[in-house]
Amino acid sequence: MLENINEKCAVVGIFGHKEASKLAYFSLHALQHRGQEAAGISSSDGHKLRIIKDRGLVMRVFDGTKLSTLSGSSAIGHTRYSTAGDDSILDAQPVFARYDLGEMAIVHNGNLTNATEIRDALIKKGAIFQTFMDTENLIHLIAKSEKEHLLDRIIDAVNRIEGAFSLVFLSRTKMFAMRDRHGFRPLSLGRLKNGGYVVASETCAFDLIAAEFIRDIEPGELLVFEEGKAPQSIKVFEPTPKRCIFEYVYFSRPDSVVFGQSVYQTRKNMGIELAKIAPIEADIVIPVPDGGVPAAIGYSQASGIPYEVGIMRNHYIGRTFIEPTQEMRDLKVKMKLSPMTEIIKGKVVIVIDDSIVRGTTSRRIVRMLKEAGAKEVHMRVSSPPTTDPCFYGVDTPDKDKLIAANMSVDEICKYIEADSLAYLDEASLLRSVNATEDNYCTACFTGKYII
Ligand code: AMP
Repeated sequence: MLENINEKCAVVGIFGHKEASKLAYFSLHALQHRGQEAAGISSSDGHKLRIIKDRGLVMRVFDGTKLSTLSGSSAIGHTRYSTAGDDSILDAQPVFARYDLGEMAIVHNGNLTNATEIRDALIKKGAIFQTFMDTENLIHLIAKSEKEHLLDRIIDAVNRIEGAFSLVFLSRTKMFAMRDRHGFRPLSLGRLKNGGYVVASETCAFDLIAAEFIRDIEPGELLVFEEGKAPQSIKVFEPTPKRCIFEYVYFSRPDSVVFGQSVYQTRKNMGIELAKIAPIEADIVIPVPDGGVPAAIGYSQASGIPYEVGIMRNHYIGRTFIEPTQEMRDLKVKMKLSPMTEIIKGKVVIVIDDSIVRGTTSRRIVRMLKEAGAKEVHMRVSSPPTTDPCFYGVDTPDKDKLIAANMSVDEICKYIEADSLAYLDEASLLRSVNATEDNYCTACFTGKYII
C-alpha cells in the first residue's frame, strides 16, 4: 500500500548557520498548515547526522532540550500530512540511512507516480523496506548507484523516479535541494542574515526567520550547498512547468509568495472573478474561515455587498480532514465552526469557500447558517468543481467520494441545502492566477493528468 503516504507536506533546509536546527524548527512552525501529523528534523555537524521525529505538531515534537541535541550548521526538516495509510512513526520524515558513502537524510513533498514499480523491482533484487513511503525508494536508488559521488548518485536516482517531488537531501557536509521537471510543488531559496541559506516550501517560513527571498528553485533544477561556496545550480531536467493550481486555491498560506505570486492576491482575484460570473443580490458576504477569507473580500469589493465575519473558527483544533473516518470528520466540522447569530439573523447571505470536496463542510455550514436565522444562503465556491483526485501530492479522496464527480451542480446545491450554488470556472481561475500559458496543473478540476 503506497498511496496516501507522502502527501501534502512541508520541507525545509538550513545551510551555514550555527543554530541550523532552531531555524529549521521555526520554519516548520510557519509551515505547520502543510501537515499536522508528524514532524522531524535532521542536522549535521560535519561528522555525524542526528535525527528527531515523532507524531504530532512541531511544537509537541520539539523542545529546547531536544533541539540542542540537534547540533551543527545544517539541518533539514519536514511536517507530514496523510490520511489513511500507516500512522507508524517509521513513516515520519526525514528518512535517514547509512550507506557506503556515509550518512544521509531526505525530506520530500510530493508523490512519486512510479513508486510501486520501483519498489517492486528493488524488492525483487533483495532490498528490504522499513516504511510505506515512496521516499524510501530514493535511499535505495542512491545507495545502489555505482557513481562515486553523492551528487551523481542523486542525479542517477531522480532520473529513475517520476511524479511530483520537492526534495531536500542532507549529507555530513552538503545539502541538496531539487524540484521535479514540472515543478508541481513549490520550493524557494532564501538568504539568512549571517549569509547562510534556507530552502522552504513556502516563503512564509522566510518571513518568520527574517530570511531574504532570493528566488524559486526552478523546475528540474538541483541546488548544491557546500561550505564557503555560493549554491551551485545544476539543470538536471529540461523544465516543463505544471505548477499545482491548488496551492493558490487552498493549500498555501496567504502571506506566502508561491510560484512568484502572492497567494493572498490570487485568492482575492478568484473572489473578484466569482462576483463577475456568479452575481446575486444579498445583504452580506461571509467567508468560511480561514480558506474563504481572501476570496470573500474580493467578492465583496467587486460586488459592493458588505463583507462580514459570519462564522467563527475555533483555532484550537486541526484541519477537518485530519481524522480518517467520516464520523470523526462530521464531529470536527461542528467543533471547528460556529455562527455569529446577530450578524446572520434575517439576512440573505452569500457564503464563500475555496472548495467543496466531499460536501460535508458545506452542508453543515448551510444548515448552521439557516439554524442561526439566515433568510437565504447562497454558496459560492472560488474554484471549479473538484472532480478528480490528485496524484501529485495534494491529499484528495478517491473519485467516488468527490461530490462533484458524482453529482451535477444542481444536485450538489440540493444536497448541501443551499438556495443557490455557483463555482468559479476554469478560465476565470486561470485568469485569477495570471496564467499566460499552459503551465499549471489543473487535474483536480479537469482530469487532465500529464503523468
Ligand atoms: P468537504 O467537507 O470534504 O467538502 O471539505 C471542504 C473543505 O475542506 C473546504 O472548506 C476546504 O477549504 C477544505 N479542503 C479542501 N481541500 C482540502 C485538502 N486537500 N485537505 C484538507 N482540507 C481541504
